[in-house]
Amino acid sequence: MVAPEETVSVSEKTGHTIRILEEYCKGCTICVEVCPTDVLKMERVGTRWQGSVAVTVDADACIACMLCELQCPDFAIIIERGQKKKAKAPAA
Ligand code: SF4
Ligand code: SF4
Repeated sequence: MVAPEETVSVSEKTGHTIRILEEYCKGCTICVEVCPTDVLKMERVGTRWQGSVAVTVDADACIACMLCELQCPDFAIIIERGQKKKAKAPAA
């Protein structure tokens, strides 16, 4: 069996990894709606049956809350929590 194609985005700040399996995504937009930090958006893909698929637009904003992975009805998005700590804001 051939593994499905996936897009992988890694936050340089936290190491959190967002994997999206485009072939499984049906373009329902649930992940975009539940993400509290606007990491994801829908992108039109005219060549695919779905019409649009979820893509990562801001991996550094991901807080690894797992909501997208838990809510996706098609197991098309996978979050791997990174080990890096977020950089602290400089003291004022
Ligand atoms: S919730 Fe899953 S199927 Fe729906 S748009 Fe997001 S990745 Fe695709
Ligand atoms: S884990 Fe949370 S913050 Fe990260 S993309 Fe999914 S819903 Fe957004």
